[in-house]
Amino acid sequence: MAYKRILLKISGEQLAGKYQSGIDTELASWLAKEVKQLSDANIQTVIMVGGGNFARGTQLAGNGIRRVTADQIGMLGTMMNALALIDIFESNDVQARCLSNIFAEQLAEPFVHRLAEKHLGKGRVVIVAGGIGRPYLTTDTAAVALALELSCEVVLKATKVDGVFSADPMQHPGAAKYDKLSADEAVSNPNIKIMDKAAMGLALEHNLPIVVFNGMKSGNILKVASGEAVGTKIQ
Ligand code: UDP
Repeated sequence: MAYKRILLKISGEQLAGKYQSGIDTELASWLAKEVKQLSDANIQTVIMVGGGNFARGTQLAGNGIRRVTADQIGMLGTMMNALALIDIFESNDVQARCLSNIFAEQLAEPFVHRLAEKHLGKGRVVIVAGGIGRPYLTTDTAAVALALELSCEVVLKATKVDGVFSADPMQHPGAAKYDKLSADEAVSNPNIKIMDKAAMGLALEHNLPIVVFNGMKSGNILKVASGEAVGTKIQ
């Protein structure tokens, strides 16, 4: 059965597409068309966008940049992605609004729970910028927290691989893919690194399912949001 409201996590790496960093606008346009299928199917969609294509706090910190500042720079990276996505979504006839968890009134509306509900109720895709707005976190954890806040039924984590594997499939071609995984196992198994442990722990605590799936295959986002067995379901 199709979900009524989902949270889609898109990483910065995915948005960089064929480039090393920055935004692959062709890919973003393709993504807009994929997300349009959700709107057309009346599936309410919240997007948490990453920023790793611009900056990651853990990589920037040190050598004079404090961790808090590094994370703030990372959050600004998510803002750049969110702003670009809004324009690209609109030019593909997808109604979307950017709500920001960092103060940036000239750029976006602030994230306010009721405002997010209003936009979702009107069928608009809500793209959240700035993660959850605090350092020492990633957008994976922010995605789970936001999904809980907005009563999303599931977190869909788009990746470049088909799901969760027993080892990194890019390095170990023989690695086995899990169709299902218990949240306990996902949290405790050190080989499972597809998502932050903090994010998976929070989802476990609140019984929120996460589906890790290949977000680069056409039609996959709609399939997974329609409840089809695509990727790996962590529950
Ligand atoms: N970040 C943060 N708080 C948040 C979300 C993100 O401080 O709530 C920072 C953090 O430095 C992170 C960076 O923003 O590394 C970019 O996000 P992330 O690494 O999750 O992006 P992705 O890997 O998904 O592209």
